[in-house]
Amino acid sequence: YDDPEPYGTIGADTSTPTPGQPIRRRANATLLMLARNSDVDEAARSVREMEDRFNHKYGYPWVFLNEQPFSDDFKRRVSNVVSGPVHFGQIPEEHWYQPSWINETRATEERDKMEEEGVIYGGSLSYRNMCRFNSGFFYRHPLVQNFRYYWRVEPGVHFRCDVNFDPFAYMHENNKTYGFTITMYEFQRTIETLWSTVQDFITEHPEYVAVNSAMNFLSDNGGTDYNLCHFWSNFEIADMDFWRGEAYTAFFDYLDSHGGFYYERWGDAPVHSIGAALFAGKDRIQFFREIGYEHAPYTHCPAEEDLWKQGRCSCEPSQSFDYDGYSCLPRWDRIEGR
Ligand code: GDP
Ligand code: MN
Repeated sequence: YDDPEPYGTIGADTSTPTPGQPIRRRANATLLMLARNSDVDEAARSVREMEDRFNHKYGYPWVFLNEQPFSDDFKRRVSNVVSGPVHFGQIPEEHWYQPSWINETRATEERDKMEEEGVIYGGSLSYRNMCRFNSGFFYRHPLVQNFRYYWRVEPGVHFRCDVNFDPFAYMHENNKTYGFTITMYEFQRTIETLWSTVQDFITEHPEYVAVNSAMNFLSDNGGTDYNLCHFWSNFEIADMDFWRGEAYTAFFDYLDSHGGFYYERWGDAPVHSIGAALFAGKDRIQFFREIGYEHAPYTHCPAEEDLWKQGRCSCEPSQSFDYDGYSCLPRWDRIEGR
């Protein structure tokens, strides 16, 4: 099932597609899913929806990653629903498992405490491995080395509208680094010392903070306190060269050395969001309002009637998460001057 063809840089191609010819992929990009073998049913469903709503016209490749070897059954089920090349990769142990310098006694104590308090995934070690991997390692996997942009897809999500444009080409042509559809508040209990660690980092490295940083999206008092807003990272369209770059690499290493992925339960969503907001800046972050997306229990559904109709959306705009009380979109609107 592995496609041995090296996938070279295609880059942005703004030429008009020839009528009658299928639209081909134009950007150096891949669809990306982290999954367990046991996720196979929901993985195949997500992939099929993504293909039907978007990728059948473009044929972007898929990369599947797992810390275990993918089963033949997983590969067979997924290969049956993709429209382009597909790659299945195993994650190197050193990118996934808890590093040896973490104090296991302390990590276990903290997990037990969070579990007792009923924090979601509070007692889970595998969830912490996953969050750290998604924060600082996925973009280093050999299978994605030659790609610049990725669209993160999870098992069990839904794409509720046709995607009638190429978001990867949009990112490239408009110099965007990070795209989202849903933004909300993080659970304070999972990131108690994250913000103070971020503050220490930017005091040491003020040169990494973008002139146009979106600090005011993250903080209501100029950076003193984190307001817990983050982009929900189960959907991401982003530029891996940013994660691979100097600022984010230094940032991730600094956070990682603090141990908060294991002593607390730092999520990749706040880590990516803080990184993108501070070091890429507001002009490089894109709200993909036209992409209907559902990850239970929340949906982003385009509110604009023209977008909703053009996208043949199956979601209901009035049930969109956008202006739910728990949504951070009003704050993002303010950042964009709406
Ligand atoms: P939630 O969205 O925060 O509730 O977390 P999920 O359970 O959806 O996990 C996020 C992503 O990581 C999904 O793509 C999962 O399939 C994947 N994932 C979570 N835990 C593991 C794991 O232990 N191994 C692997 N291979 N993937 C995992
Ligand atoms: Mn999920």
